[in-house]
Amino acid sequence: MATIEFPVNSLGKSVHERLRQNIDEIRGRLADAAARARRDAAGITVVIVTKTVGVDVVRALIELGEKDFGENRIQSALPKIAEVGPGPTWHMIGHLQRNKVRKALADFAVLHAVDSVKLAAAVDRIAGETGRVVPVFLEVNVSGEGTKQGFEASAIMEEFENRLQLRHLDLRGLMTMAPYSDDPEDSRPYFSKLRDLRDRIRTETGLAMPDLSMGMSGDYEVAVEEGATCLRIGTAFFEDV
Ligand SMILES: *Cc1c(COP(=O)(O)O)cnc(C)c1O
Repeated sequence: MATIEFPVNSLGKSVHERLRQNIDEIRGRLADAAARARRDAAGITVVIVTKTVGVDVVRALIELGEKDFGENRIQSALPKIAEVGPGPTWHMIGHLQRNKVRKALADFAVLHAVDSVKLAAAVDRIAGETGRVVPVFLEVNVSGEGTKQGFEASAIMEEFENRLQLRHLDLRGLMTMAPYSDDPEDSRPYFSKLRDLRDRIRTETGLAMPDLSMGMSGDYEVAVEEGATCLRIGTAFFEDV
């Protein structure tokens, strides 16, 4: 009789076991960071960014109880989402081209990187065709780096005053990516800047904007301390898997 071989890594542990360890480690650190900030960890959503892993790993994560997954490119995401099938909530976390909005809305529940008024208007129009209201985050370029997508922090208020009254968008809040650094503390000023900006928009517009999508593998604990309600974490989940 043939023996069934389970995939093992260099430590001889199964993929499930390693994923379980990484999940426990990340959830534990998240809980500690929330406690330091006197926040309730239950109010923080962890989006597992699966762009570097295949369907087998996504399935294992689902079996381990995970429900929120993120992808940054439509082309590679759609076949993966189709193969995984119904169940999880998929978050589009990368830049979206306007001609891909229809496709994105078919499979993604939440859009994290709405980075222009034109894109927001396209999402609003297409969502409206089916009477849907889509949860979205506006991406802000808080670092001012020329390579980064997103609204300029200084210009976003004006956009609200002029044009951003879109009935088919549920504006959850703001999203950002801190510039890459080995030191998580380097991200802190960008995260606090995003929170301040959200607070200011909230005061001036009366919009609820309850959420902040910020924090990745290298800086999610700092993000929690600075008020993140949605973390987008990839590689930390897949270490040694
Ligand atoms: C890839 C990606 C992440 C996750 O990055 P990790 O460093 O792997 O945790 C988060 N947000 C966006 C927009 C990404 O593209």
